[in-house]
Amino acid sequence: MTCLAREQSLENSAATPDWSDRYSRQVLFYGIGAEGQRKLGVASAAIVGCGATGSALAGLLARAGVGKLRIIDRDYVEPINLQRQSLFDENDAAESMPKAVAAARKIKALNSSIEVEAKVEDLVPSNIKVLLEGINLILDGTDNFETRYLINDYAVDRSVAWIYSAAVGSYGVTLNVVPGRTACLACIFPDSPRGMVETCETSGILNSAVTLVASIAATEALKFLVAGPEAPTLRRTLLSFDLWTNDRAEIAAAKRRPGCRACGERDFVHLAGEGRPHITLCGRNSVQIHERQRPIDFAELDRRLQAHGRVRHNDYVLKFWRDPYEMTLFPDGRAIIKGTTDTAVARSLYARYVGS
Ligand SMILES: [Zn+2]
Repeated sequence: MTCLAREQSLENSAATPDWSDRYSRQVLFYGIGAEGQRKLGVASAAIVGCGATGSALAGLLARAGVGKLRIIDRDYVEPINLQRQSLFDENDAAESMPKAVAAARKIKALNSSIEVEAKVEDLVPSNIKVLLEGINLILDGTDNFETRYLINDYAVDRSVAWIYSAAVGSYGVTLNVVPGRTACLACIFPDSPRGMVETCETSGILNSAVTLVASIAATEALKFLVAGPEAPTLRRTLLSFDLWTNDRAEIAAAKRRPGCRACGERDFVHLAGEGRPHITLCGRNSVQIHERQRPIDFAELDRRLQAHGRVRHNDYVLKFWRDPYEMTLFPDGRAIIKGTTDTAVARSLYARYVGS
């Protein structure tokens, strides 16, 4: 080969890198192999909640080549998220991008060969069947037990596997729920566990606790998607750890608890939506209003609100500041009102500025 020919050949290879090799280091791993990689490529997973844990889970599974990811999140990116929510950057926070949209955008840039769907919605009983339709595995990236019990009811009812994950402070905990084969979340925690009422807002959180719990859960997801519910090394315990104190514990979760409300009595109260308030607190001096499902014309509302405070919008969110409140409105009419935990105040602000 002449010098010139070699240079041209290098140029060509630089212009068109060989993508066929992108998973080679994973295919080499004995637990995956070529057949396992093919299975991942046709598998689908939903990530419910795309904050810290959800970001880490989605990033790992996207890079691993899981064929279809559906990211469901109700929130928008803020500067306070960047310390641990690995799919977002400063631009996303400056633009108040919905997390689902920002995450999907980032994932498309890091792996364009997989399908990724962004759902800017709050997962609730009325939309869960649509949002989780056709999904092989559900991953928990939420920050609250209300949504986790809802996922658990749905998963047990439909016999879909899901993986519970949570992190707060330096503590992380995770559980695989394979309906019919393992305990479910309600077997282990018949009611919201007291220790977990701590939140990131009250106890802070280490990003390393997040990535460790996401790492464990994402690996369990790979085992499940490659080898199915009978995967020999799929963990059948509730695993918890504290990275700061070095404590680590495992509780057996291989067997269902007799009389469990969900997997025993099949009493799906959360799926039925009983006792669910129309307005929920986000747990950070904010109230979410999601009872009014109707499209909003951002340009028109932006004009109308100019006289009442500072306002700006893009295709995804409209933000309105009126001291001491900050309202973030989504195109379907859902709103997060910051600056109060009083639902009556939030409702009246919404009625006054958006409409009742
Ligand atoms: Zn159960």
